[in-house]
Amino acid sequence: MFLMDSLIRRCRKGLPKELEAVARAEGMEPVRLARGIVDGRIVIPKNPGRKHRACAIGEGCTVKININIGTSGSRCDPALEMKKAQAALDNGADALMDLSTGGDLVAIRKKILKLDTTVGTVPVYEAVRRAGNAVDVTPDLLFKVIREHCQQGVDFLTLHCGVNRQALEALKADPRLMGVVSRGGSFHCAMMMQREEENPLYAEYDYLLEILKEYDVTVSLGDGMRPGCLQDAEKLAKSVEYNTLGLLAKKAQAAGVQRMIEGPGHMPLDQVGYNVKMIKEITSHAPLYLLGPIVTDIAPGYDHVVAAIGGAAACQNGADFLCMVSPSEHLALPDVADIIEGTRIAKIAAHVGDTVRRPEGFRMEREVQMAEARHELDWDEQFRLALYGDHAREIHERDGATETCSMCGDLCAVKMVNELFGTGKKNAGTKKDKPKDSPRP
Ligand code: SF4
Repeated sequence: MFLMDSLIRRCRKGLPKELEAVARAEGMEPVRLARGIVDGRIVIPKNPGRKHRACAIGEGCTVKININIGTSGSRCDPALEMKKAQAALDNGADALMDLSTGGDLVAIRKKILKLDTTVGTVPVYEAVRRAGNAVDVTPDLLFKVIREHCQQGVDFLTLHCGVNRQALEALKADPRLMGVVSRGGSFHCAMMMQREEENPLYAEYDYLLEILKEYDVTVSLGDGMRPGCLQDAEKLAKSVEYNTLGLLAKKAQAAGVQRMIEGPGHMPLDQVGYNVKMIKEITSHAPLYLLGPIVTDIAPGYDHVVAAIGGAAACQNGADFLCMVSPSEHLALPDVADIIEGTRIAKIAAHVGDTVRRPEGFRMEREVQMAEARHELDWDEQFRLALYGDHAREIHERDGATETCSMCGDLCAVKMVNELFGTGKKNAGTKKDKPKDSPRP
C-alpha cells in the first residue's frame, strides 16, 4: 500500500518536487502545472509504485499520443507486442495501453511496465478472461483486478463507469446501427442486461475512488457508448453517458483522484468541434482522451489517416490526448509496421494540434527553422528538423542527393527566386555550428 498523499492533494498544499521535470518538458511554470492539476484541467498519470518518465496531459500542455498494444485470443505473441511497444516509443509515443486479452496477462503487463513510459490498462478485459465470460464477472472480481493493476504499477485505468442502466435505456430507446462497439462497453452491457443489475463501477463508484486514491492511480472514464459509425453519432446513448461522466468527473476530482475523459468515436467532421467543446464543458474541462474521431467509415486500411484528420480537428477545439489508430483498425491486430505508421501519423495530428493550441502556435521555433531551411535549400537541416527525417531523406535521395529536388529539377522556384533577390544560403557557412541531433518526434 502506498500511503503517500495523492498528487492532487499535494498540489493543493504546495508544489510537489516531481512537477519540476514535467513542467520543464512542457515549457510551463511548475506553479501553473500545479494549478491545472488542482483544477482538474491537467493530469499527470503516474503510479508512485513505479519509476518512469511521466508526462502531463491537458490544458496548456502539448498534445500527447497513446499507442495501444496487446495480445488477443487469436494472436498471442508477447515478444511481438514488446517489439511494437518499443517501436511506438522510438517513434514518439507518450504512453502505451496494454490491451492484452490472450496469454499470461500478468506476465505480459509486468514486461510492459518495465518500459520508461506512462502505461494504461482496461481491467475489465482481464476480469472477463478470469471469469470466462462477461456475465460471470462479479463486482468482487472486477474490483480485485482493478486493485491488482494498481498494485502492479499501472498509471491509468480505463473504467467504463458511465455505461449504466440509464445509458442502456437510451440505447434501447434510440437504437443505433452499430449498437455498442467499445469492448469494455459491451462487457458492461452484457453484465447489466443478463443479471438485471447496475454496473458495479457506477453503483460502487465511491469504493472505486477509494482504491484509486490509495494507489494514486488516474481514472480514464471510458466512453463505452461511443458511436461506431457516422450514422450513430447523433443518437442518444453517448450524450447520456457524457452527462454521467460529467458528474463522475466532479466526484473524482473532489476525492483527490486524477481523471480524464474518453470520447467520442465515429462522427462527421463538422460534429467534432462542438462535441469536444460540449464534453469539455460537461466534465469541468477534464483532459480529453480521444480514439479518432473517425470521420469517415469507408477508408479501412487508411483509418490512421482518417483518425488524424478527426484528431487534428478535435485538438483545435480542445482535445488533449490522442489514441493512435493504426492502418489495421477494423481489420486485424496491428503488426510492427502498422504501429510505426500509426504512431507517426498520430504524432503529426498531435503536432498540428499544437500549432494552433500552444501559446506560440505555428510560430514555434521548429516550424520557423524548417521554413528557413527550405528557403535555403538546406536539406540536412530539413531532415534534422522533420518529425521523421529518415523517411524524408529516403524520398529526397532516391533521385540523387542534389541541390534542389527532382520535383522541378533545374526549374526550382526557390533557387531561382533566391538568385533573383540575392537571398537564401545565408546560413550555409554556419551549418557546421547547427546541432546535429534531431529534436524528439
Ligand atoms: S525543386 Fe521544386 S519542389 Fe523541389 S525544392 Fe525546388 S521548388 Fe521546391
